[in-house]
Amino acid sequence: MTQLNRRRVARFIDDFRVEPGRRVRLPKDFNPAEITRSGTKSEAKAILEQGVERLAEYQARLAAQDDYGVLVILQAMDAAGKDGTIRHVMSGVNPQGVEVSSFKVPSSEDLDHDYLWRYQRRLPQRGHIGIFNRSYYEEVLVVRVHPQILAGQKIPRKLKDRGIWGRRFREINDWEHYLTDQGYRIVKLFLNVSKDEQKARFLSRIDEPDRNWKFSAADVRERRFWDDYQKAFSEVLSNTSTPWAPWYVIPADVKPFARVAAAAVILDALMQIDPKFPTMSDDAKAALLTAKEELLGGPVAVDGGGAAAEPDAAATGRKGRKRKKR
Ligand code: ATP
Ligand code: MG
Repeated sequence: MTQLNRRRVARFIDDFRVEPGRRVRLPKDFNPAEITRSGTKSEAKAILEQGVERLAEYQARLAAQDDYGVLVILQAMDAAGKDGTIRHVMSGVNPQGVEVSSFKVPSSEDLDHDYLWRYQRRLPQRGHIGIFNRSYYEEVLVVRVHPQILAGQKIPRKLKDRGIWGRRFREINDWEHYLTDQGYRIVKLFLNVSKDEQKARFLSRIDEPDRNWKFSAADVRERRFWDDYQKAFSEVLSNTSTPWAPWYVIPADVKPFARVAAAAVILDALMQIDPKFPTMSDDAKAALLTAKEELLGGPVAVDGGGAAAEPDAAATGRKGRKRKKR
C-alpha cells in the first residue's frame, strides 16, 4: 500500500472545505450522505487504514516540537456522531497530548464574563491537540435559534441589538486570527447529518436497550427548530470560514465515512505544520555519550565490538566517532 502524502490527503478533503466568502445554503449545498464524490473509494480506504496511525505519529512530533498547537472544533446537530468521531480520531494518539473539552449550558460564573472567557480557559497548550466538543459557535447557533437565551445573558441591554450576530462573527474571526498568529492551527468540523438520519438514530436509541441511556427527550423537542438551525449554520459557514480557519462540512449520515473524513482534515492540518523531532546539537550528543558512560561504568565503544557496544549508535548519530579517552 502506498504511503499517504499531503497531496492525497489535501485532495480528498477539498470537497468538504467551505471557500472563504462563499454563501452557503443548507441543506441544499452539502449532501449529508455524500461518500463518493470526494476522491475515490481507495483514497477513503487508505485514510481509514493509515490515517489514525499517521495522526498519532504527527501528534508525537507536534509534542516534541512544542511550539505549534492544534484546536479542533466540532459542531453538529444532536446524534450527528461527535463523540464517536472523537473516539475514532484519537484512538491511536498519546492521551497526554490531547485535551477534550465539552461545552454545555454556561454556568453562572461563565455568564459573569464575556462569552469567549470560558473557551479561552480551555485552549490547548502548545504541542497539544485540543478538541472542543461544541464551542463558542454555540453563541451564534443555539443562542440565535432561542432568543430567550440571549435575553438571559448579562450583557448590557443596548448591546443586544440586531447587529449582535454580525459583531459576534467578526469577534470570532478576529480571535481565531489572533490564535493563528500565535501558532495555533484551528480545524473546524461541522458534522452534517440529515433530518431523516437523525430521526433514525433517535429511534434506535429508544428501541435498543443498550442505547437507551443516550436518548434525550429534549433532543427530540429541539428537532422542531431544525430549519432554524439549518439557517443559523448556513450563516455561520458563510461568515466564519476564513483563509486562516476554514470550515469543513463533513457528510455525517454514514458514520465510518464521517470518521475517515474528519481524521483526514485533522491530518491535513498536522501535515501542514509538519512538526519535527528536534535534532541534537553536537554538544548535546556528547553529553548523552558522557551520561551513557557513567551509567555503564566505563568508556563506551562506538564502532561495535566492545563489551559495552551500543546497538543504537547509528540512531544517535555517533557512527565513526573516536572512543573517548578517560
Ligand atoms: P451528548 O448529548 O452526546 O452528551 P451534547 O453536546 O449534546 O452531548 P448535552 O448536555 O446534551 O451535550 O447538551 C449540551 C447543551 O448545551 C446543548 O443543547 C447546547 O446547545 C447547549 N449549549 C452549549 N453551549 C451553549 C451556550 N454557549 N449557550 C447556551 N447553550 C449552550
Ligand atoms: Mg445532547
